[in-house]
Amino acid sequence: TILLVACSTEDKATEVEPAPEAVEQKSPKDIKIGFSMDTLQEDRWFKDRDLFLKTAKAAGVEVEVTVANGDDVKQIWQTEKMISEGIDVLVVVPHNAESMAAIVERAHDAGIKVLSYDRLVRNAEVDLYLSYDNEQVGILQATAMTEMVPKGNYVYLGGADTDYNAHLMKQGVFKVLKPYIEKGDITVVFDQWTKDWIPDVAKKNMETALEVNHQKINAVIAGNDATAGAAIEALEAYNLAGSIPVAGQDADLAGVQRIVAGTQNLTMYKSINDLSERAVELAIKLALGEDIQEDRTINNGKINVPSILLPPVPVDQTNIRETVIADGFHQEDDVYNQ
Ligand code: BGC
Repeated sequence: TILLVACSTEDKATEVEPAPEAVEQKSPKDIKIGFSMDTLQEDRWFKDRDLFLKTAKAAGVEVEVTVANGDDVKQIWQTEKMISEGIDVLVVVPHNAESMAAIVERAHDAGIKVLSYDRLVRNAEVDLYLSYDNEQVGILQATAMTEMVPKGNYVYLGGADTDYNAHLMKQGVFKVLKPYIEKGDITVVFDQWTKDWIPDVAKKNMETALEVNHQKINAVIAGNDATAGAAIEALEAYNLAGSIPVAGQDADLAGVQRIVAGTQNLTMYKSINDLSERAVELAIKLALGEDIQEDRTINNGKINVPSILLPPVPVDQTNIRETVIADGFHQEDDVYNQ
């Protein structure tokens, strides 16, 4: 034993002690990001995943991606595994805004910072929230819709109740509709969440809305393009597609094609390129412990979360070329030659 102690003392003595800061100093090349995704149900999430990986690769950063397919238990389990196997920062798109709070705590216990990507984790000490401005999505949808249809019966097909984005969008929509409703010009005759953003659920809701209102509907605002598309299928069964304005969001290829065809009037373009590039850059900063300049804070029920919110861009028949096509989000041929 004495010999061993002597040996180790000697080892230490000959070692060049690095400066304390140098021990902490990491470079992007040493970072591993855990990217926990809810779903790949909509087109956009493939772009989120692929562009995130592309940007990270260019920065020399390693990424592990998991997809939970709408299963909370799976998302928690996948994320816990990444934390215990060693990541330097966690980027999370929560399926359930509330359930993922436990993971934020788990990550913090392991000294890992958490970036809430696109969707906010509620009731947790999230380090940073990066998204498009979801309330603004709702405001822009309803503003365009009330310009087209200032009076009449509105249907609101919200997103998933478990996704806080859906709540923020709904707040935006009703902020704009409120004065019209109070004046008696607009009546919201149907207002439902869409479980897990499942298009079939939205379609059934739209069918119910049409039946109970004897088709007396003048405008439809949907949480995203997938649910807008489902609503349009329901309208088609009554030969009403194209005669009742419909708004969605995401600028999905199918959504933009419907705008060209005239069955959908509006979508919200959110450049996934910009979002994923910012996310990688910010995740690296979080991992390196660097300062981040947030735009504002959003209360998530527990704290005011430092937030960076990008502006969504409304797209209708008039500006498809200068938005989604100019950006390379979609190809001209795919949009117009279908
Ligand atoms: C996103 C939308 C998406 C929806 C369904 C929302 O949180 O902001 O872009 O369509 O989730 O995945």
